[in-house]
Order: sequence, then structure tokens, then C-alpha cells
Amino acid sequence: MPGKDAEATTIEDQPRQVRAWYGLPGEIVVESGHWHLVKVGPLPLPHPPVINRLIRRGLPREEKLRLSYWHELGHLQTLPLALAHAVWLWHGRSRRPRPWMGRLIRLAAALVAHEAAWELASETYVVTKSGPRYRRLHRKYPNPLRPAFWVGMAGLALVGTVFFVRKQSQGQ
Ligand SMILES: [Zn+2]
Repeated sequence: MPGKDAEATTIEDQPRQVRAWYGLPGEIVVESGHWHLVKVGPLPLPHPPVINRLIRRGLPREEKLRLSYWHELGHLQTLPLALAHAVWLWHGRSRRPRPWMGRLIRLAAALVAHEAAWELASETYVVTKSGPRYRRLHRKYPNPLRPAFWVGMAGLALVGTVFFVRKQSQGQ
């Protein structure tokens, strides 16, 4: 690719066509910090690269791309976990009739919790894949948004899940 020198070779070594451990094929293209293409089977995965942009700020370009690639791959690899969480939320939901606004708020909480849990799972995959390099890199290029990501996502996942599920015992 013109204008892309040796720093991009590592990320270009990563396969575009991938297969998750449970057999689902996917496609991942991380060409810049701003444009990601992720497909699960024939379906594009609705996922903004916002998280990658925030938590990779300050890293050298090649590391940024590599970690972003693994993060997107992590979404594919942890999809069963994300689905299990969604099914668990759905089972735990309250069946009590409520006003539309209340339902919408609870649905939004569930979606936020689901997305946050999936982000955590995916980034945990990156940590596992990178090993000690992950911590070394982030120590060398500190970014306050990174700890904020872990704390914020864990908080959203927990609060959203508890908010969505707890009403069952109160409501029935
Ligand atoms: Zn993500």
C-alpha cells in the first residue's frame, strides 16, 4: 500500500479472513486508526471503533493497529460469552407490565451492560494475547483513558446488569 512503510508489515501479516475457535468464519480489516471492517460470517458486526481509538491513544502506530486487530478478533472469539450474557439478561428480565418509558430505560440499561461486558471480554482477549508486552507498552505510553476504560466498562456492565435483573425479585 503506498505510503505505508515497514511499520505496517506486522499488521498486514495478520490474516484478513479468520475463523473463531468455535468455527464461525469472520473478516477483519484494520487499516487505520479510523476505519475498521469486521464481519461475522456474512454479517458486518455493528461495532464502532471508538473504544480502540480511545484506549490506544499515544501508542506507536503499529502497536495501535496490532492491538486494535486483536481487539476486533476478540469480539469474534468472545461472541459466545456475549451471547450467554445477553440470554442471561433476557431470562432475568422482569415480566411485570410497566410504562413504556420504564421499559425503554431498562432496555437501554441492558444494551449498555451487554456492550460493556463484551468490550471487557474483548480487551481481556487482547491482554491474554499480548502477555507482559501489554503492560510494558502501556507503562511506556501512559494514557489515563485506559484505566478509565476498565473501571468505566466494569461499572457499566455491573450496574446495567444489576439494574436490569434485580427488578425481577422486587417486581413479581
Ligand atoms: Zn470493542
